[in-house]
Amino acid sequence: MIEIAHAERAHALLSPSGAHRWLHCTPSARLEETLPDTESEAAKRGTLAHEIAELKLRKALTDKMPTRSYNTALKKFKAHELYEPIMDDHTDAYLEYVQKVVHAFPSPPFVAIERRVDISDYVPECSGTSDCIVIGGGHLHVIDYKNGQGVPVSAENNPQMKLYALGAVKEFSLLFPIETVHLAIVQPKVWDQPSEWTLSASDLLAWGESIKPIAQAAFKGEGKYTIGEHCGFCRAKATCRARVEHMLEAGSRAPLKPPLIGWDEVGDVLRQAEGIVSWYTDLKKQALAEVLKGGQVAGWKAVEGRGSRDYADLDAAFAHLKENGIDEAVLYERKPLTPPQLEKALSKPVYKKLLEEPGHVINRSGAPTLVPESDKRPAITDQVKPEDAFSAPIE
Ligand code: SF4
Repeated sequence: MIEIAHAERAHALLSPSGAHRWLHCTPSARLEETLPDTESEAAKRGTLAHEIAELKLRKALTDKMPTRSYNTALKKFKAHELYEPIMDDHTDAYLEYVQKVVHAFPSPPFVAIERRVDISDYVPECSGTSDCIVIGGGHLHVIDYKNGQGVPVSAENNPQMKLYALGAVKEFSLLFPIETVHLAIVQPKVWDQPSEWTLSASDLLAWGESIKPIAQAAFKGEGKYTIGEHCGFCRAKATCRARVEHMLEAGSRAPLKPPLIGWDEVGDVLRQAEGIVSWYTDLKKQALAEVLKGGQVAGWKAVEGRGSRDYADLDAAFAHLKENGIDEAVLYERKPLTPPQLEKALSKPVYKKLLEEPGHVINRSGAPTLVPESDKRPAITDQVKPEDAFSAPIE
């Protein structure tokens, strides 16, 4: 049985997608309410990719969509200014994953596409749209597509996914008994394989009970402003007083031994100062917007940045240069596209067939980067890198 509902992408005050934030910083939801909600270009691109993913699921999993309507709809999406060819590959990867889950059942499971689920038993006035829900044989699968690449999102203990699962259990468990819950995030720009996590339905329900008082506090705007990595997703991230105070205190905390700090202290200093650069950039951006619209930011003003030169009419300028004997080779720069740019331009399968498989592409490891110990990647040093560890001669 397949059920389809078009996504209403409206957000509740305590939305599942913001749960990571409001579960940690309960007053943040009410504070965000007072600030304008500006949708970034990446978010708009994500919405477009979701529409394409939904269309593909509907076409593949139902017999209700005539090929002609599908092609017309897909063509429309592809004509969108934010469309990029790689979206086709990524939404195909999502479709493949959902099909793999569906076809693993011995008999056809129940499938709901873009289903809005009610989560208000646990979180006041909360509902959310799950990209795909599959239920059969005591198993519930909640599958989410993510188009972003900035922040890898893991399914493990993911509160957004657990809230969707709670909504699905409430909605469907009378019709379909549910014992085990599988959460999966397909984020093709980040993970080669979807991130998956499994828990029992009873553990899920217990978690739902445990967050009830936190959600109540968040709904009322009560609790303590709590700093963390979740601040990066908060509308108040630039001007939140708690965060500003935290950032400005970073340099003055813990009396360090003069004149130089030791490596035993560096880790703590880096941790305390984390986020300072992006916070400062965000705050400066908001302050500029404020003074440009005529507001006052004490001690600061807006000025014209460094100007640039451009052609009044490129065609006329270049024609004039050629008439005056300037060789065309001087006028243009021919630059090869990089492998990631070509993959985007050609689509993944063509890129793989023409470039990767014949060995025209060399994969080089990235420059070393310092990350917190909790990062899942293996540690490296100049002496031993993970790929060398197995091939190093044994003495
Ligand atoms: S910026 Fe951080 S501390 Fe401030 S309200 Fe938002 S989540 Fe809470």
